[in-house]
Amino acid sequence: MSHVLVLNSGSSSIKYQLLDMAQGTPVASGIVERIGEGRSSLTHKVPAADPGGETRRYERTEPYADHEAGLKAVLDAFAAAGPDLDAIRPAAVGHRVVHGGDRFGGAVLVDDGVESAIEELAPLAPLHNPANLAGIRGARKAFPNVPQVAVFDTAFHQTLPPAAYTYAVPEEWRTGHKVRRYGFHGTSHAYVSRRAAAILGQDPADTNVIVLHLGNGASATAIESGRSVETSMGLTPLEGLVMGTRSGDVDPSLPAYLARNAGMSAAEVDTALNKRSGVLALAGANDMREVWRMVDEGHEGARLAVDVYCHRLRKYIGAYYAVLGSVDALVFTAGVGENDERVRAGAVAGLERLGLRIDPAKNDGLVRGTEQVISPEGAEVPVMVIPTDEELEIAVQSLELLGR
Ligand code: AMP
Repeated sequence: MSHVLVLNSGSSSIKYQLLDMAQGTPVASGIVERIGEGRSSLTHKVPAADPGGETRRYERTEPYADHEAGLKAVLDAFAAAGPDLDAIRPAAVGHRVVHGGDRFGGAVLVDDGVESAIEELAPLAPLHNPANLAGIRGARKAFPNVPQVAVFDTAFHQTLPPAAYTYAVPEEWRTGHKVRRYGFHGTSHAYVSRRAAAILGQDPADTNVIVLHLGNGASATAIESGRSVETSMGLTPLEGLVMGTRSGDVDPSLPAYLARNAGMSAAEVDTALNKRSGVLALAGANDMREVWRMVDEGHEGARLAVDVYCHRLRKYIGAYYAVLGSVDALVFTAGVGENDERVRAGAVAGLERLGLRIDPAKNDGLVRGTEQVISPEGAEVPVMVIPTDEELEIAVQSLELLGR
């Protein structure tokens, strides 16, 4: 029986899951928070073996200076609260890495060369890659005898054709500064599109899917014959759909316009487009549950926010329909996609001529956390809700790489 430990290392946090790959379910999970901030904490959870049982929790608050210290604390948590890692002997540690540039089109075994490459790609993901690398370095010390695998958010989109990934910008930007569309959320898009093919009873290689990953960050991907051929996030995760706090598409002249007319620097505009825009800027809240409460109370900004959000979704569905020519399924996933029936209804409203329809009873009566088809029986294009599972996908890709 194989187990994989999956790590998602942020700048001051490490999220982890130990997955039992015979079942595809976590046997432990946890988070180390506020690393390097003096009062770090660790929460470790062990789900009950039997359905009715209680989850065991183990908590610690003590300073962890860096990711290496945080991972030592994770080892201590396993030793104290189980399961016994020495007995389980994980087959791999799988790391989420945000940016693989055009170097990595799939998962790779981590060695010093891969570490250097992740470091060299840091200008493309300055907040994420250094943190991911700190987690990898810590884990190589904490688990010296376990193969470490890097799974990149960008890798699934490396199949985009040049016509889709090329920006029409000067040559020296494209070659000297690696300016192109990379795309993100690839692990989620890969997982969900494969599940969609399974639900249809088709080979992924014969299946065209549009996936809408709608979380706090959001992206759409057109998947042709199992391969990503177009995606809405670009050089950075700012482009494309309207998100919780990110604008998505705007006129590229906006930074220059604001520099001339509002005296703002490029960095100030960038921060505002990433952190103070999107649904938050229009509604004053970025959690869709709160936004819908405001809509129901008659808040005009919130109404505008959901209208803009759903309009952008419809625009992308139409565009990706044109990219694919024929579509076997439209899939919603992530926090908003899995839970927000009103967004799902709004995203396909008026697209009946494309064969896209939602059955209101199925859409509203969805059992959370389950895979469901929400289009009417016999619909031309099945519309589905598929809960994403990036940890499982990282674990699967890690084992595949190791030939297990
Ligand atoms: P994620 O990034 O995938 O974890 O998604 C987080 C977002 O999902 C939150 O910011 C909410 O906007 C949204 N979300 C979570 N639960 C619900 C829900 N029940 N209804 C609507 N939106 C939800």
